[in-house]
Amino acid sequence: MTDCLFCNIVAGNIPCDTVYEDSEVLAFRDINPKADTHILVIPKQHIVNLADVSEQQWPLVGRVLQSINKVAQQESLEGFRVITNNGEKGGQEVFHMHWHVLAGKNLPGF
Ligand code: AMP
Ligand code: ZN
Repeated sequence: MTDCLFCNIVAGNIPCDTVYEDSEVLAFRDINPKADTHILVIPKQHIVNLADVSEQQWPLVGRVLQSINKVAQQESLEGFRVITNNGEKGGQEVFHMHWHVLAGKNLPGF
């Protein structure tokens, strides 16, 4: 989607600090980190959020979660918190599904 911020990051039109990438998933550092480590993990395919996942997209969601684990191992995270905000009332600001991976001291509450 041309007007989607994260689709533009996937397309390389907007730079990001890439942490992990494969053919289906991209992970990059959040521009406004809320913890010592704050990484966003997204499917390259545009999916609005969890509530919008179609039946055939669930395996992709599983691979996004698997990538979160790879990122945690790659970054040697001893423990981490995963959050995905769903919908405006769920605190979602960017409407391309993303999973926040947070680690370090003083993790924000939920
Ligand atoms: P959410 O509120 O769950 O939609 O989170 C959106 C996240 O995207 C926020 O934590 C922002 O700091 C982050 N963000 C916005 N623009 C960028 C960008 N250009 N690069 C990296 N992270 C971004
Ligand atoms: Zn998108």
